[in-house]
Amino acid sequence: MAGASTPKPVAMLDLARQYESTGAAIQEAVADVCRGGRFILGREVADLEAAVQQRCAGASAIGCASGTDALWLALASLGIGKGDAVVTTPFSFFASVSSILRAGATPVLADIHPDSFNLNAEAVEDTIAKRHAAGKQDVRAVMPVHLYGQCADWDSFQRLAAKHDLLLVEDAAQAFGAAWNGVPAGALGDAAAFSFYPTKNLSAWGDAGLTTVRDAAAGERALALRAHGMRHRYHHDEVGWNSRLDTMQAAVLLVKLPFIDEWNRQRAALAARYTELFQQADLVGQVSDGGIVLPTADPRGTHVWHQYVIRTPKREALREHLQSRGIGSEIYYPVPLHLQKALTDLGYHEGDFPESERAAREVLALPIYPELRHDEQDRVVEAVAAFLR
Ligand SMILES: *Cc1c(COP(=O)(O)O)cnc(C)c1O
Repeated sequence: MAGASTPKPVAMLDLARQYESTGAAIQEAVADVCRGGRFILGREVADLEAAVQQRCAGASAIGCASGTDALWLALASLGIGKGDAVVTTPFSFFASVSSILRAGATPVLADIHPDSFNLNAEAVEDTIAKRHAAGKQDVRAVMPVHLYGQCADWDSFQRLAAKHDLLLVEDAAQAFGAAWNGVPAGALGDAAAFSFYPTKNLSAWGDAGLTTVRDAAAGERALALRAHGMRHRYHHDEVGWNSRLDTMQAAVLLVKLPFIDEWNRQRAALAARYTELFQQADLVGQVSDGGIVLPTADPRGTHVWHQYVIRTPKREALREHLQSRGIGSEIYYPVPLHLQKALTDLGYHEGDFPESERAAREVLALPIYPELRHDEQDRVVEAVAAFLR
């Protein structure tokens, strides 16, 4: 490439491109909200909830202020709280654990499966057995996270839940539109949480979230809990929280919702193309012999590719190499939750969850979003190839 000019950068995510296709319609919808003068809850929130309810097999849908709050609402509406333990994964965003604490319950961790990066049902079962052996019968729920847009192995979790009489709560923050055996995320568990944070596959223009709850009575409870436990104005049945959804955010989401399945298909096509390009370039191998390991998709699931995440033992050096060429990448997540300072009280130590710790050292997310162009993707692959050769 003698005489080549500085290569053009490739952003990890460029939301301005989505603004190109949806911005005008959203501006109009937001103006409508302003003219109506109703800024909290209201018709748009109800319409969004109805649309998600329809997508999620009739589960009650409750809009709220964030994905973090949606997790708390999911747990609280199922009556999970003091004295209960909830098993989840250490390889996730902090909210997966902090929401359990916020509900007043005890987070218990179990390791992930190295191929999917998702909570391993066998590890959960071992953890429950160890707790029983220690005389603790407090595990009431399991909260798998559909990490990177791929549903956790729900066949295994359903078997486990039936065997031990457990509730299942989905952290579906990264998985709007994903499915398992054709059943959409949000309709798989007893309750689920979505995040509409601006970088998520379906995103608001600020913070927003939504809880789905299978049982109608628990859904009613979630509705009350997001508004200070009020069922009738200024009559508080229990202590909830203010986690109402802004009308404007619902208006934004209603404009985007009709596009989400197409956007997710575009992500899947880009993921398939990454995989093909890396294979053609002969870069795929074992981490142990210096190759990169590509992400896999379980054929039982519909993966929505929130992230395309490779593994490499030379992760830090590769990231610097990409950065020097203006190519974005991210690490989700560099520190597993059991090693977070804020969670030392949980009593875990380095070495407790080896697969999560290894993933935290090796993962690197590459740019993927519906509007990413093929020439940009080619530059990412060429840069990775130049590093590895
Ligand atoms: C984004 C995210 C959350 C939290 O959602 P917010 O809307 O940022 O509060 C929770 N869990 C996972 C796995 C996430 O990716």
